[in-house]
Amino acid sequence: MSRENNAVLIVDDISSNIQVLANALQTDYRIKVATNGQRALEICRSESPPDLILLDIMMPEMDGYEVCRELKSDTETSSIPIIFVTALSEATDEEKGLNLGAADYITKPFHLPIVKARVRNHLNLKLKTDLLEEMSHVDGLTHIANRRHFDEMMKKEARRVTRISQPLSLIMLDIDYFKNFNDNYGHGLGDECLIQVAKAMRGIIQRPSDLLARYGGEEFAVILPETPLEGALKVAQALRETIENLAFPHAYSKVADHVTISLGVASNERDQKISVENLLKQADQALYKAKKAGRNQVAH
Ligand code: GH3
Ligand code: MG
Ligand code: MG
Repeated sequence: MSRENNAVLIVDDISSNIQVLANALQTDYRIKVATNGQRALEICRSESPPDLILLDIMMPEMDGYEVCRELKSDTETSSIPIIFVTALSEATDEEKGLNLGAADYITKPFHLPIVKARVRNHLNLKLKTDLLEEMSHVDGLTHIANRRHFDEMMKKEARRVTRISQPLSLIMLDIDYFKNFNDNYGHGLGDECLIQVAKAMRGIIQRPSDLLARYGGEEFAVILPETPLEGALKVAQALRETIENLAFPHAYSKVADHVTISLGVASNERDQKISVENLLKQADQALYKAKKAGRNQVAH
């Protein structure tokens, strides 16, 4: 794990205090500074938030406790570790800071080597937590989003597109005759096939807000926010063709001599409140229709 690119935000209303800490930490980290609470919040909510914050408590207007409270109440910023660095040395001050969710509390005057060690330890912990968080969203076999991430994103995107009166489309797809594939070629090659299918599809799903996920077994799902039905049907056809062109041999399929997929597409009407449950049901029914109609095709 590398810490070289980690950014540390130092927040203090007195510039000379910032200087002391910045001097000690700048060889190991990128340093950001803020001389008031508002500015600290802005930096944390920006495109490049810090990985850790050293936060003074006594500041005019917005004090450090308030900054901490704001950051911890927002899921976008709540995982940034905060270390209070303060002249307030009463046990009750420290208790208050830690109860607000701060990772650590350092009282002035401090020993710089101890500050450096605490920063390093908390950053290491943060890197591990981030890695676990990332792993909990990724499918171990195909390395695309897993079911848990899919469920979270469906809810989130449904809320977002409803707010901006945009459509939401969903594709459910399933490999044809995959049981036959496994039974004849074995699970090892079955797994390899799933990896190749996911990789090929990833090349098609381009927009940053789109999400390709492994829904379970040999079933995948694609969330297409701000995409109407016609657009989603095009994406579905492109996915079908891509898997066709992958030409992964499957001598035991009844529809081709290679691996194929069947796809079901569902889309809400624009301005209509989106029910995640309904969309899933519709896409699933469409997928069933595609299977019934002969597989290796798109239905809606
Ligand atoms: P259909 O064309 O109707 O979709 O038929 P199918 O055989 O693909 O569907 P079915 O649901 O009967 O079988 C799915 C098979 O997918 C069962 C299992 O052998 C295989 N499978 C599911 N998950 C995995 C996996 O993680 N690895 C491997 N190798 N195979 C899997
Ligand atoms: Mg199948
Ligand atoms: Mg299946």
